Amino acid sequence: MRKLILYCFVLFSASAIAQQYDLVLEGGRVMDPESGLDAVRNVGVRDGRIASISVGSLAGRCTIHAAGLIVAPGFIDLHQHGQDLASQRVKAFDGVTTALEMEIGVPDVDKFLKFKEGQSLIHYGTTASHVAARSLVFGAPLNPGFSGPLAGLPEILPKSGPATDQPATDEQIGRIRQRLNQELDAGGLGIGMGIQYVPGATRLEIIDMFHLAAERKVPVYTHLRSFGRLEPGSAIESVEEVIGAAAITGAPLHIVHINSTCLRDTVTCLSLVEGARARGLDVTTEAYPYIAGMTQINSALFNPGWREKLGIDYGNLVLPGTGEHLTKERFEELHKSSKGQDVLVFANTQEMVDATIPLPLIMIASDGAEGHPRNAGTYSRVLAQYVREKKTLTLMEAIRKMTLMPAQTLERSTPAARHKGRLQEGADADIVVFDPQTISDRSTFDKPMEPSVGVHELIVAGTLLIDDGKLVPNVYPGRAIIGPGKVR
Ligand SMILES: [Zn+2]
Repeated sequence: MRKLILYCFVLFSASAIAQQYDLVLEGGRVMDPESGLDAVRNVGVRDGRIASISVGSLAGRCTIHAAGLIVAPGFIDLHQHGQDLASQRVKAFDGVTTALEMEIGVPDVDKFLKFKEGQSLIHYGTTASHVAARSLVFGAPLNPGFSGPLAGLPEILPKSGPATDQPATDEQIGRIRQRLNQELDAGGLGIGMGIQYVPGATRLEIIDMFHLAAERKVPVYTHLRSFGRLEPGSAIESVEEVIGAAAITGAPLHIVHINSTCLRDTVTCLSLVEGARARGLDVTTEAYPYIAGMTQINSALFNPGWREKLGIDYGNLVLPGTGEHLTKERFEELHKSSKGQDVLVFANTQEMVDATIPLPLIMIASDGAEGHPRNAGTYSRVLAQYVREKKTLTLMEAIRKMTLMPAQTLERSTPAARHKGRLQEGADADIVVFDPQTISDRSTFDKPMEPSVGVHELIVAGTLLIDDGKLVPNVYPGRAIIGPGKVR
């Protein structure tokens, strides 16, 4: 397997040599969570698709020997904020071939898609952002822009203020709808609603946005209105709110990071999701395998009452990078600032995380961004800790949570996703090849951008992005995943 980079590159350009496949993965343990296939097979890739899965040998212009390794669909992350190249690089080493910004969405879908075109390592896409549409209508600035290749795009969360905390008038709600319609026309994959970041949005405004999603035949992806047990405004009430809105309107619903909103009551919250599904509602959810969350400290999530709701204090807030634990004074300084600053929020227990990840309704999604180890380590961590060490998940169940489940959530409104999340003939050639004995996360709260180990090969749309454990330079095979409303 050594020296394959040179070998593959040389042969890829030698078009005179006629071979049946562009690339062959030979002798790996092929796992497909939809068909249940779990057997040693050869996989032939041609023109970006999986063209053959065979017991017999296949001839390719490039052959990679995968004996002893797992060959699985590339992981699909429905919840990835960090869309810069540094984040994409660590996602790739974590086995991710598609990473979408669905929770909040970006402020300008068209601008985002243009920024990313031709310079993305992995597949990308976004929802239309209710938070951003609301800020725009209220005339409030979003936080200052992304750095690096996404410079010029604003951050996705606004500072708390009138635009986040005040109810919208009927006229304003009309303009929010108009903006979201435009964003869906530009290719938004659904409506992203960070309700907790705009607490001024009334129940009726939320229902109105669900109506819009239903009209446009796209799902709502939502960060719930509140966390904790205190009533009124508990996590349970927050789950009820969005399940109610889904039932009233018929819009499909995906609740993001149920672990970091429901905290100690995650299993109870999941029972509400289960009940809704049992009555025919299209409701899904996700979790990440860490005890801390991370968000912007000047956002409305930290409006008065957060300590009581979360049952934590200032010292449970930690600045990534420096490791500084906040005091009341420091918190107030940062919360008031117009400049966005990420903060880690230590509010969950390892027991609850361990109880949540294996549950059948949970798909894996990272909520990744630079500063938190989940950006780099979510998928490897699940495979290392829950499959290999604790043995609370089978390998096939874990792969299902990382591939088929998110693909099925996407494909109900975006038919192109039917070709993702599967290791089948005809599926997109988004493939991860990893060693089940060694795959591990290396990122920590001190070193959040340490890449995972154990991914030998990563293929994105038929192109090798990681070969023999190394990133292939100067290839950008990531493509846009576009919502059904795109006006062409
Ligand atoms: Zn969130």
